[in-house]
Amino acid sequence: MSSQSSVPWYDDFVGVAYRYYDLRMNVVPLFTDRKEAASLWHDTIHPWVDPSIKIRFLELDDNYWFIMGSDTQKPDTNLSFFKELPKSENYERFKKGHGGEAYLRLGVYAKKSLADVKKDAVCDCSHEAQDHDEGDGDICLFNSCDCKKFSSFQVNLLKKKKILTDIKFLEEKDMKNDPLVWNCLNANKFSKSE
Ligand SMILES: [Zn+2]
Ligand SMILES: [Zn+2]
Repeated sequence: MSSQSSVPWYDDFVGVAYRYYDLRMNVVPLFTDRKEAASLWHDTIHPWVDPSIKIRFLELDDNYWFIMGSDTQKPDTNLSFFKELPKSENYERFKKGHGGEAYLRLGVYAKKSLADVKKDAVCDCSHEAQDHDEGDGDICLFNSCDCKKFSSFQVNLLKKKKILTDIKFLEEKDMKNDPLVWNCLNANKFSKSE
């Protein structure tokens, strides 16, 4: 167990998406570079032993820490993952709906501009592409909306997946009792804030 503390921490990804896909919730760490995601999967996540994968959500005020680690068949290239993220609707939906099990997949995140999308694509402002003015710097045509530029994103899920069964949501008072979480905060939060 204590070997876990020597595993390097990795946070060079952009966020985490939560999606229904194949009848199960998917937890999807997001990358901007497909090659990087594919090689991380190959070197680090593929050798993970499924039942030992731990995924933790530590809630601190409006944010949460996503923390993930596992025993591996290839200790030399093992990593543990973490990211501090704002709570979102999709996060809350996952928390309520996962039922103790989820798929882990990696995703590739691509920003889309007005020229890249169909008319009914939805902007971050919640209005469709066709409600944005192509002639005038993409501004949203709804009077009540102050969106100045169409922007949306698309997530492409990589096919390979792992099954997650060790999923826990924790609060600040619980963090010392979970070795993976405590380890993560000591390495990435407390040591840096001093
Ligand atoms: Zn907009
Ligand atoms: Zn709008």
